[in-house]
Amino acid sequence: KYEWSEEVEKMLKDVFKISSFRPKQLSAINSTLSRQHTIVVMPTGAGKSLCYQLPALVEPGITIVVSPLVSLMEDQVRSLKNKEINAMLMTSTSPKEETNAALNALKDIKTPIKLLYVTPERLAKSKRFMANLQKCFSNGRLQRIAIDEVHCCSHWGHDFRPDYKYLGILSNMFPGVPLLGLTATATAHVLNDVQKMLNIPGCLIIKSTFNRPNLFYKILEKPTSNDECLNILEKLLKHRYKNESGIIYTNSIKDAEDVTNGLRQKGLKVGCYHANMEAEARSKVHIKWHENYYQAIVATIAFGMGIDKPDVRFVIHHTISKSMENYYQESGRAGRDGLRGECVTLYRMQDIFKVSAMVFSSVGSMDFLYGMVKYCLNGHLCRRELIAKHFDEDWGDSDCNKMCDVCISNSNVTKEINLESHCQTL
Ligand code: ADP
Ligand code: MG
Ligand code: ZN
Repeated sequence: KYEWSEEVEKMLKDVFKISSFRPKQLSAINSTLSRQHTIVVMPTGAGKSLCYQLPALVEPGITIVVSPLVSLMEDQVRSLKNKEINAMLMTSTSPKEETNAALNALKDIKTPIKLLYVTPERLAKSKRFMANLQKCFSNGRLQRIAIDEVHCCSHWGHDFRPDYKYLGILSNMFPGVPLLGLTATATAHVLNDVQKMLNIPGCLIIKSTFNRPNLFYKILEKPTSNDECLNILEKLLKHRYKNESGIIYTNSIKDAEDVTNGLRQKGLKVGCYHANMEAEARSKVHIKWHENYYQAIVATIAFGMGIDKPDVRFVIHHTISKSMENYYQESGRAGRDGLRGECVTLYRMQDIFKVSAMVFSSVGSMDFLYGMVKYCLNGHLCRRELIAKHFDEDWGDSDCNKMCDVCISNSNVTKEINLESHCQTL
């Protein structure tokens, strides 16, 4: 239906080897190819990168990709090169030759480069880079600017980065060049702020659903004593999740170590993962879990990037997350294969204080934690509906299909949350 539609389909199959789009990917691609400023909101793992990588191949010229994390950029450039797509990256730590090559590519009207990844401070602080980008623009070769993790623009987001504020000049500096922001943060507050910061009022916002129908959500009362907590975990791993693979998230390195040791003493095969371990040790644990030698990995949130195990059947939160955004992302590592996964949170009041000290020192606000506590304390509203509302999504008449503890207990005689019923009736 668009002049580019055929080419888009062809690239999807021939270059990316993907058989079909995920929800909203094609809308996002069509929107940005129509040269509209667009913000794409999709959960982590939904496939936001494709929304700028594919258009980059459909049109002539260069796509600039602004991304906050060098490791993510390196991963993407590597994977693009494997697909024989010409991509480069430029960070403050890039070797001189690479930086020069990238700068020349911007000026060169014959360059084969399709995507250039840069950190936000490049745009902000490198005069040379900006001068060359201006040349690229006046040669008509600046195709579009993609801004990944665009919520970093906003003070209201959970991950504000000062360098993102310089991106506000782009829409005026390069009129006619479409900006494409991408994020998994969906609150109206943050999205409004992002539009303001980028000077793109009235841009098109394309949002996919955050509902994960195959995930079951449950809160368990967390006992005061550590031994009793361990007993719960033991029961879950030995019975309910027997022969299944999962993750147990803890709030501190000490907890991760204690829980690992405790479960090992009970004869369970679990691995421990946190930021204080050497990279090599971490990767060993990851591999052993991936190969199902370990039933579960007991980890702090340092365990996040690069988890692509499709058959994670359970994610247990030994302590509440510091925000719903975090919780959604961490628990969302279950059930990537589309089969049932369970997201269980152990909740007790005293943990609020433990987490709040951390939250306050990092973001200076308790609002994020409040959302998480509300989710745990809620006893009458469907948890799935609560998650939808948190992400400003219209739940309407959607059905949970008894995929949360509240919907189950609302349909049961007993409303009590206890472990026995959790283990037997589900
Ligand atoms: P996000 O940035 O939204 O977290 P990514 O862009 O990193 O997600 O994509 C996550 C994974 O999904 C990648 O491995 C990607 O290749 C894959 N992917 C993206 N789109 C599709 C699709 N339409 N079909 C199958 N896999 C896809
Ligand atoms: Mg991404
Ligand atoms: Zn429900």
